[in-house]
Amino acid sequence: MMKGMIVMNRQVQEAVGAVESELISFARDLVRIKSRTGREADLVARIRREMEKLAYDEVIVDKVGNIIGVIGNGPVHLLYDSHMDHVAVNDAEEWVHGPYSGDIEDGKLYGRGASDMKGSLAATVYAGHIMKKLGLAAGKTIYICCTVMEEDFDGAGLHRALVDNGLKPDYVVICEPSHLNIAVGHLGRAIYKINVKGVSAHGAAPEKGDNAVYKAAAIIGRIEELGRKYMAMPPERPSIALTKIESVSASLNAVPGSCTLYVDRRICPHETEEAVGAEITALIGDVDADWEIHDAVGQSYTGEEIVLHSYLPGWEIGHEHPLAQGCFAAYREVFGGEPRPYKWNFSTNGVASAKLGIPTIGFGAGVEKTAHMANEYCPVEDIVQACRFFALLPQKL
Ligand SMILES: [Zn+2]
Repeated sequence: MMKGMIVMNRQVQEAVGAVESELISFARDLVRIKSRTGREADLVARIRREMEKLAYDEVIVDKVGNIIGVIGNGPVHLLYDSHMDHVAVNDAEEWVHGPYSGDIEDGKLYGRGASDMKGSLAATVYAGHIMKKLGLAAGKTIYICCTVMEEDFDGAGLHRALVDNGLKPDYVVICEPSHLNIAVGHLGRAIYKINVKGVSAHGAAPEKGDNAVYKAAAIIGRIEELGRKYMAMPPERPSIALTKIESVSASLNAVPGSCTLYVDRRICPHETEEAVGAEITALIGDVDADWEIHDAVGQSYTGEEIVLHSYLPGWEIGHEHPLAQGCFAAYREVFGGEPRPYKWNFSTNGVASAKLGIPTIGFGAGVEKTAHMANEYCPVEDIVQACRFFALLPQKL
């Protein structure tokens, strides 16, 4: 048994080694192609070319523009998810290597999206190829899913990939950067919109109105107080923050008749939508206001409307779950040590798969702290090692 496992790992290592330079040049290409949220068409074309070159069994581009490469047709379905979009570059002058250069220096691939998350994406595309070549997908159907619009609509692209295409994976691996560690969950998040009602009046006669912003001040004070209480709690705590205020008045000479507060609420896995909603109601207290969960609306590059209902529950997977155990086994084999599972401190597409009740876990190439920052990079070695891990995992499930 032990001997067989070692041979298998060595085979994977050799197979990845044989395509390493192609894998890295593919990752560099991905970094060089801009793919802001909702503008991923060029990247999709490049990924399709690579999947076809690598003889994927099937390549699907769906209604919203997700591209899904399929390997195998076995009964156990495993989906690897990487989002294709990246955040903007607003600080190009701070980049030592151009943000779309794809330069490699000291073993680091530089560029916007290198860690978040084109390095991992490239690794999954090549892992699919290795699985096919070595027969590692026997008894499995593998989906290499590259999704649109994660940065502004977390979960919406993957949700559409699953629902529109009728995919029912048994397991989902979110390949966001984890620097080759296993991520077993993260907090959820929600955006609440609190609408405060007032009465507009001429600024010269404010007594005839009821200033909605003054009324909102009481709610703002309570949000701040609750935020401080959460900040004082130990890690894996919820948080609440006021993130934006809007008010409506006829002119700068008019008392505002309404005011909207936007509140970012991070949610622990044990918290329910009802309980968090009750908390928002309590923050409003006796102020004349109501609340709703914010719906973010966008358009995919294919012209499809994407709606993100901004209540995204947190998720976590137990260490005893077969998916976690499979990942731990693959980890030991690839890295020769014990995994140290942890939780991500950011939201991912995992909110979509977890909400659908699909066992979900995280593993990826790249350094999460460089994501969304100037001089973002991904260690080249991470991409190679992640490819080995991804290729080996199906055998452990
Ligand atoms: Zn990401």
